[in-house]
Amino acid sequence: MSIVTLRDIQAARERIVGKVERTPTVLSRSLSELAGAPVHLKLEHRQITGSFKLRGASNAVASLNQDERARGVAAASTGNHGRALAHAAKCQGMRAVICMSRLVPGNKLDEIRRLGAEVRIVGNSQDDAQQEVERLVTEEGLVMLPPFDHPAIIAGQGTLGLEMMEEVPNAALVLVQLSGGGLASGIAAAVKSLRPATKIIGVSMARGAAMKASLDTGRPVQVEELPTLADSLGGGIGLDNRLTFAMCRDLLDDVILLSEDEIAAGIRHAYEQEREIVEGAGAVGIAALLAGKFKASGPVVVLLSGRNIDMNAHRRIVCGEATGERAS
Ligand SMILES: *Cc1c(COP(=O)(O)O)cnc(C)c1O
Repeated sequence: MSIVTLRDIQAARERIVGKVERTPTVLSRSLSELAGAPVHLKLEHRQITGSFKLRGASNAVASLNQDERARGVAAASTGNHGRALAHAAKCQGMRAVICMSRLVPGNKLDEIRRLGAEVRIVGNSQDDAQQEVERLVTEEGLVMLPPFDHPAIIAGQGTLGLEMMEEVPNAALVLVQLSGGGLASGIAAAVKSLRPATKIIGVSMARGAAMKASLDTGRPVQVEELPTLADSLGGGIGLDNRLTFAMCRDLLDDVILLSEDEIAAGIRHAYEQEREIVEGAGAVGIAALLAGKFKASGPVVVLLSGRNIDMNAHRRIVCGEATGERAS
């Protein structure tokens, strides 16, 4: 049923061991009380480079042959994939060029430069940045490693699903962030293979949820890209999507959408109750739980996917000075 198999994900785990951290899973007492079931937080925002994207990037880079390594890699990224790829390429002594749109916050951009990658700012959307990547591939011979629609990227993100099932073997429900769907596809492929009864729910922001609109339409569609607190969830799924649309359609049990205020509440809860600093995208699982968007019939695993937020914005949000709409 799924295009990336459990075997691919297990192979990815062996390829990236030692290159990524195995992040901890902790029980949240406050969220467990609220949900009426044990709620486990997978603290993947503590991953090297600040997000799970290092798993997919490390697996993809480690899968390249000698000739591809010599040419270097390119990607369009809203930030975290670019950071991860910059780090993974640097560890292998490879050139990396990261293309991104003007909507990407400055803190993410600086960090990618610090990690040793070249940064190109192009246009107002992920699709504009993608065109520059395609030019680099055809004119300069670089290898494109996209943020989500690639088997090695999906398999790398899927290693999170293996860890979740080892850490919470009887999980009834997994809440996972949903944007391009590489993360959700990989986790769902692993979890559904190991324990088909476990439900997987994707969580997105209501402002520009491209995968949700595509699933509702029955094919990949474009939506307007809007500023959101969950900026790492922005961007389309690609009208020529090859893998993640079908995998999300076949493997996800449901998709939940959240308002900006609900996402802000998730960031605040993570900070005040769990003592964790997470970015908007990282907080949507907690936010969905706080908003009471689903019923838990057993142990829940909530993924905290990233922590790369501008700290001034974070301070405003936790002080309640910025509601979601104004913060963006
Ligand atoms: C990229 C990203 C996501 C979404 O992953 P997709 O594979 O695009 O669905 C979620 N959270 C964070 C922090 C991210 O960087």
